[in-house]
Amino acid sequence: MNAAAVNMDKDIDGILKSHRLKRTSARIEILMLLLESGYAISYNDISERLGDKFDKSTVYRTLNSFEEKSIIHAVNDGSGGIKYAVTKIEGAAAHVHFKCDTCEQTYCLSNTKIPPVNTPAGFVVKASSLLINGTCKYCS
Ligand SMILES: [Zn+2]
Ligand SMILES: [Zn+2]
Repeated sequence: MNAAAVNMDKDIDGILKSHRLKRTSARIEILMLLLESGYAISYNDISERLGDKFDKSTVYRTLNSFEEKSIIHAVNDGSGGIKYAVTKIEGAAAHVHFKCDTCEQTYCLSNTKIPPVNTPAGFVVKASSLLINGTCKYCS
């Protein structure tokens, strides 16, 4: 088990404390948004939902600190911007992301791991990502 990953009990205080992050209103509100979202959300989604409560750099800094601590991970779904999703314990290893063609949301398939890929000699794998698209369970 990866201790850096988040236990999805929505215990915001516990998550911040275990990653030695001070409780600030920006951290609490942004983490709540991310925990409540069933799909990956972009910086724009986040700042839209927050309204003008926090300035741009506060939101960026908060997302960066969450990403550094592996509380969240970045998801590139080809939509042009980076989206963020909370890293669940079962999703700490590289997992598949699924983009729905209908609702255009991107979901973490935390239990669907990326299978090991053989690379030619001299090509060293550091990270991998796999995006699958189709129809999600809410749209099918
Ligand atoms: Zn969908
Ligand atoms: Zn993910």
